[in-house]
Amino acid sequence: NDRLGHQTGDALLIAFADRLELARPTDAEVARLGGDEFAVLIRNHGDDPQHLVRKMHAVLTQPLVIDSFPITVGVSIGVARVHQDAHTTTDLVRAADTAMYKAKRTGGTFALYDRSARTHQHGRLNLLSELSAALDDHQLHLNFQPQLRMADGRVDTLEALVRWVHPHYGPIAPSEFIGLAEQTDLIDPITVQVLRTATQGVMAGGISARLAVNVSPRSLEDAEFVNTILSIVAEAGLAPHQLELEMTERELVRQPERTKYAIEKLRSAGVRIAIDDFGVGYSSYQTLRLFDVDRVKIDREFVQGLLASDKDRLIVSSLIELAHALGLDVVAEGVESQGVWNALRELGCDVAQGYGIAVPMDYVEMRRWFADWSETYGGTPLHQRPTA
Ligand code: C2E
Ligand code: CA
Ligand code: CA
Repeated sequence: NDRLGHQTGDALLIAFADRLELARPTDAEVARLGGDEFAVLIRNHGDDPQHLVRKMHAVLTQPLVIDSFPITVGVSIGVARVHQDAHTTTDLVRAADTAMYKAKRTGGTFALYDRSARTHQHGRLNLLSELSAALDDHQLHLNFQPQLRMADGRVDTLEALVRWVHPHYGPIAPSEFIGLAEQTDLIDPITVQVLRTATQGVMAGGISARLAVNVSPRSLEDAEFVNTILSIVAEAGLAPHQLELEMTERELVRQPERTKYAIEKLRSAGVRIAIDDFGVGYSSYQTLRLFDVDRVKIDREFVQGLLASDKDRLIVSSLIELAHALGLDVVAEGVESQGVWNALRELGCDVAQGYGIAVPMDYVEMRRWFADWSETYGGTPLHQRPTA
């Protein structure tokens, strides 16, 4: 959908469904569960399920020709067995989903449901259904990670990063559930909760640094959401210019008209906008062309290659130059060593963030760190300090 348009996306789904009809055993039932997910109900006559699934997988991953374009789709299959793995339809679909998720994560082609590993794997249906409860039960927590100004080492921004501490599975990384939440309506309440908790925390702590919150540009496609953001900020009593919203370029260009309008409205209210993970999307230049923003955050992939690769160094240096020419400031993500810090300084980067400076901390730790840092180092140029 993002790369070739919805029409091609629809045509692909139809062609894939036809292919699935061909690939299935004759007495199997085929259904679409929604989005890009399909279910196949196979009556097993004693065949080896692995053999069957492997055969289907081979057929399904042959390129499909859409508008005379060959398109190859990745297919992950999860297998669950009636009786062995589940007794109800709901449980069966969930078990298959859990197995599918495992196949996806391990980069394999398919996975069988493994009952004994239940606590170590969570399928997307499981996670999604538990996520809304997690919101109400306060299972979502915030960490904060500082971003330092490279010129004087002052704390420029604290980025709020969400954590889900699940009562059974333990901590679940945002990469495992934010993407899922973005495909449903759940992302909005998550953003609201993060924004509310973070703005109130910053106010309660009397923190002078800027606050950065990650926002899915998908949320901004709904014009009302901008008002929601602004009213949360007003409720907390935070000055709008103390808030920065980070958005990835990948998502920004999905609905450029609407997103552009939302961004303009936010910026005219004083809220700053940063482009996150800059450089790794498909449309970095297009993003800069279409949207007026305040800051770019160079993706850590480039930053981490800085010392080892001349190419990465050149890319980072020209990204910095380009951003500056456009009047934007630049944050480098993923700064893990003094060497990278020094190299970035030389290249004229404005702000740095990374494990080498500070890891994400919970609210209490962050306040302690912030107080210590400001007292000890606030105002001392960083290159004159023992470590960064
Ligand atoms: P991000 O916005 O790029 O956030 C920075 C991520 O990089 C964080 O991972 C952070 O822990 C990690 N990181 C920081 N410094 C370093 C470093 O020096 N080296 C390396 N290797 N990693 C570093 P985290 O917390 O797991 O977050 C992952 C992603 O989840 C975030 O990437 C962001 O896209 C998303 N996310 C997190 N919180 C939220 C949220 O509240 N709302 C939304 N929509 N997305 C969120
Ligand atoms: Ca971010
Ligand atoms: Ca990032």
